[in-house]
Amino acid sequence: MGSETETFSFQAEISQLMSLIINTFYSNKEIFLRELISNSSDAIDKVRYQSLTDPSVLDSEKDLYIRITPDRKNNILTIRDTGVGMTKADLVNNLGTIAKSGTKAFMEALSAGADISMIGQFGVGFYSAYLVADKVQVITKHNDDEQYIWESAAGGHFTITLDEVNERLGRGTELRLFLKEDQLEYLEERRIKDIVKKHSEFISYPIQLVTEKEVEKEVPDEDAEEETEVKEDKPKIEEVEDEDTKKEKKTKKIKETVIDQEELNKTKPLWTRNPEDVKPEEYSQFYKALTNDWEDQLAVKHFSVEGQLEFRAILFVPKRAPFDLFEGKKKRNNIKLYVRRVFITDDCEELIPEWLSFVKGVVDSEDLPLNISREMLQQNKILKVIRKNLVKKCLEMFTEIAEDKENFNKFYEAFSKNLKLGIHEDSQNRNKLAELLRYNSTKSGDEMTSFKDYVTRMPEKQKNIYYITGESRAAIENSPFLEGFKKRGFEVLLMTDPIDEYSVSQLKEYDDKKLVCITKEGVELEEDEEEKKRLEEEKKQYEPLCKSIKEYLGEKIEKVIISDILTNSPCVLTTGQFGWSANMERIMKAQALRDSTMSSYMASKKTLELNPNHGIVKALKEKVEEDSNDRTVKDLTQLLYETALLTSGFTLDNPADFASRIYRMVALGLSIDDTDVPIEEAPTSATADTSASTEDAEASKMEEVD
Ligand code: ADP
Ligand code: MG
Repeated sequence: MGSETETFSFQAEISQLMSLIINTFYSNKEIFLRELISNSSDAIDKVRYQSLTDPSVLDSEKDLYIRITPDRKNNILTIRDTGVGMTKADLVNNLGTIAKSGTKAFMEALSAGADISMIGQFGVGFYSAYLVADKVQVITKHNDDEQYIWESAAGGHFTITLDEVNERLGRGTELRLFLKEDQLEYLEERRIKDIVKKHSEFISYPIQLVTEKEVEKEVPDEDAEEETEVKEDKPKIEEVEDEDTKKEKKTKKIKETVIDQEELNKTKPLWTRNPEDVKPEEYSQFYKALTNDWEDQLAVKHFSVEGQLEFRAILFVPKRAPFDLFEGKKKRNNIKLYVRRVFITDDCEELIPEWLSFVKGVVDSEDLPLNISREMLQQNKILKVIRKNLVKKCLEMFTEIAEDKENFNKFYEAFSKNLKLGIHEDSQNRNKLAELLRYNSTKSGDEMTSFKDYVTRMPEKQKNIYYITGESRAAIENSPFLEGFKKRGFEVLLMTDPIDEYSVSQLKEYDDKKLVCITKEGVELEEDEEEKKRLEEEKKQYEPLCKSIKEYLGEKIEKVIISDILTNSPCVLTTGQFGWSANMERIMKAQALRDSTMSSYMASKKTLELNPNHGIVKALKEKVEEDSNDRTVKDLTQLLYETALLTSGFTLDNPADFASRIYRMVALGLSIDDTDVPIEEAPTSATADTSASTEDAEASKMEEVD
């Protein structure tokens, strides 16, 4: 060989993945063929798409096909396609040196019990070749480059060589799998046919199998006597034939190997058939071939639209969310666009909105021009109409799923985030989407409830739909905010998904009932006249206390008010109507927006709401009336405020400070002098020491009233 061979190292994770594939005991190895055929099909898609705008790209090879050739002499299985091929740079990048997020994700999934057959979903299907081969060669020719050989027997590295030895490919890729000794079954015709039928039936390019047949041929016979003996055990028919020919001249039969080709996937595209004639298994076969999924779909919708515009489509909802559903801004469209049975693209953003990116399927338009370019796709009116229809059909499909509770639970677990994103993005379908939302609630037990069911349970006097947001169900289920609602028998929805905050604020209402966040200021509980009157009176009575507390706490809070949302707790902190809730503040902090201008602008303005019926609040009121400058009251107010921060879902700015206050209380509870407790005082509360004796008295009082 005249050309130089360059050696490359596999990226570390890929190398790790390869050894995992080679060394893991795994019996369902046949899926490698599905993966490699799927890569071939993708490669043909690419060149087919290019040819729509530049037909000359096909000059290097006009026929589009995938060809499987078993070589039983050398134990090599070859899969060749006339796709786009790879340049040398493509080989280096795509087959080994550039890490993909799926590599690691797949290995993690494997160690969590996933199956190797899931490999295609993680975008590393190529390496499944090493399930059956100990060495792989990729011979490839791209229109923009020479023909190259990529080769690797794993072990951390691969080589690339300019190909001066093999037959010219014209264009495309030939994969040679040097099969492991115990994997020779994949050279058998029957086995290959079965696998292709099972996994790749719906590939839209012909998959050819090169077969070798031993046929008998008649040739003139020079040594007639010897031959007749050899032919003795032939079937009768041939003998009869022989007798005819004998009359003319003597012939003999020899065995000859004839190379033949068989097309393995002759099925007509599924979507062109009448839905009534398609069996459920056919849909799931098609779904698996389309998506590389190892499981059946959760739901399917097969329909055609006729009229001014014509198209057919099959849409699928998978059973699970893909591992990278919300990862970055990766454009992974899952709808393949065909124009009159010709594949156009699977990268057409205009076809389906982002929130529906988990829906998979095909759309075949009768109206779009075949040579449509990417730019044209962007402003195409036909496409807009198709998109609208697809969204409508998706919503129908989801509503159908909702008829079966168990299926809907699966669906909701996997894709509720998408529905909520849809609420955010799709104002036209907001109301329909709202019907699909489910939440835990203070009355729903282990089940989830819909808005519809919630409304049917509303007591007559309840006007609004109430909800609370927080990090987890446990964190909000016993929140003090719920007290007044529980007392009145009002159900509260428990929202724990970060996206809930966004979607509910878009939704605003359901069935003409306002959605009200109960941790925000100004929640007006439906009250009767008597209750209202009592509250007004209490507000007056507690005005001095509210004023003093506001003075003690200063900028930390916006205002102090008396309210009736509490029954058992002395106080909570609500936030402004239009600012962030405590939960939103937590989410924003987690997103590291803490120091941005947005944060200081939106950060929750807090209102301290006091429960006038609580012993602590009553006692504080008396204290303040006696002496509005009482040190103990100041210190206890601080403690109440900090505790309210926690119970209201905020975090403490200065936990050490809070802790020292608590330790002092503990010391008091144990009746020991707090100087015995080695506490690292935060500097701000150093002065508190002097009031230890008054605190003592205060603490015992608090025990009494509690
Ligand atoms: P995926 O198909 O999900 O991208 P794979 O590991 O199966 O992941 O393939 C990696 C990449 O290698 C492909 O994206 C493609 O760029 C390239 N590739 C693999 N097989 C072929 C082929 N037959 N023809 C052209 N490119 C190929
Ligand atoms: Mg692949």
